[in-house]
Amino acid sequence: RQKKPLLVILGAGESGFGAAVLGMKQGFDVFVSDGGEIKEIYKSQLKHHRIPFEEKGHSIDKILVADLVIKSPGIPEKAGIVQALRKQRIPVIGEIEFAARYTDAKTVCITGSNGKSTTTMLTYHILQKAGINVGLAGNIGKSFALQVATEQYEVYVLEISSFMLDDMYDFRADIAVLLNITPDHLDRYDYKMENYVNSKFRITRNQRGNDIFIYCKDDPETNKALTAKEINATMYPFSLTEEVQYGAYLNEEKEIVITLPNQERFIMSINDLALQGKHNVYNNMASGIVAKVWELRNESIRESMGDFVNIPHRLEHVTKISGIEFINDSKATNVNSVWYALESLPGKIVLIMGGVDKGNDYSMLRELVQSKVRGIVCLGKDNRNIHNAFEADTDVIVNTQTMSEAVQIAYHIAQKGDTVLLSPACASFDLFKNYEDRGDQFKAAVREL
Ligand code: ADP
Repeated sequence: RQKKPLLVILGAGESGFGAAVLGMKQGFDVFVSDGGEIKEIYKSQLKHHRIPFEEKGHSIDKILVADLVIKSPGIPEKAGIVQALRKQRIPVIGEIEFAARYTDAKTVCITGSNGKSTTTMLTYHILQKAGINVGLAGNIGKSFALQVATEQYEVYVLEISSFMLDDMYDFRADIAVLLNITPDHLDRYDYKMENYVNSKFRITRNQRGNDIFIYCKDDPETNKALTAKEINATMYPFSLTEEVQYGAYLNEEKEIVITLPNQERFIMSINDLALQGKHNVYNNMASGIVAKVWELRNESIRESMGDFVNIPHRLEHVTKISGIEFINDSKATNVNSVWYALESLPGKIVLIMGGVDKGNDYSMLRELVQSKVRGIVCLGKDNRNIHNAFEADTDVIVNTQTMSEAVQIAYHIAQKGDTVLLSPACASFDLFKNYEDRGDQFKAAVREL
């Protein structure tokens, strides 16, 4: 009997666990190695599937004899273990690339600095309501690999982060969506915007003429990169400012117009969209183009765009107390998403922000802070950057240590008609488990008022 090939998986999170199950099913010997502590839920699942694993360190000897390695997107290319593997010329790929080898399902891959989850969920909602046998995966819910191992879908809508893209080489998206590119995660890209832009453009790598590339024509970084890159796919742009022949644009009546070759034109007023705000017009345009590529009925698309309910923590309305609105935007983990939050809300805002700063440049927020922000409540271990950025733009900047303190002080500063907005521009790991925990604590603290 021939020896089975050895598949080593670095990092036992959702993607690592899924890849391990799929690897077993595909006839690999599987070994999972996690440098940190493995979450109890994945540990019990690995045991249940009889998949050997280790945690709190890597057994180099065992890893360096692998035939194929799958690494978690959280592990940077520069990590010692990855470098050692590269030196031995052992292939290291990501879970998306691996899973794609074992399915014929079509893929709709959505990336961008902001709006990925919203657009992924919305696209999934539209396809599902139209009766398509569609799966949802990527950076959201159950891993792609686990679903490839256990489900049978005709098409997947995948939310793809730039870290995931960095581990994709031969993968080819049938439909690729690039929503926007604004600075984020620059610490992982040598603080070079160019590297981050190139990472995002990997979404269209390997695409051919019949594949579709959907992108935002109003996005400066995308446009700049497009002048230098050759795209092989059929391109459908979307824009709020310019009419396009094929793709989506906003007409003078504030309607989204989507035109694809040989298809009935789609028209819908932005007032009828379930998701409000300028950024969501973009997201709806991107999803709408995907739906039209799938040749869904206009009526069905309109209905789904009108009744979509977004997942929590994205500009989520919490409650109104004495005329003050409370909004949870905990998922806003970079500067650009805070910009859209400030831009889309009416009246004066008391902004709760701060956390783990990923090399943020706050200058793009200054104008909006000057005109709309009544005060800033910092909630993070180190708030120096926020103070330095906004000292001249707002009268009030206070430091707080806990969510309930932050909410109470924000409530105190706010006046009738104002909004208290949690939109941190930062990651949450200094004081919270994750952004969901941060948002949940915000909502709990608001209800305590
Ligand atoms: P991602 O998955 O890319 O982080 P989400 O859909 O979870 O994106 O939204 C994250 C944050 O970005 C939220 O605060 C949301 O309001 C904001 N946002 C959503 N869509 C866009 C967009 N197209 N452009 C800019 N900001 C957006």
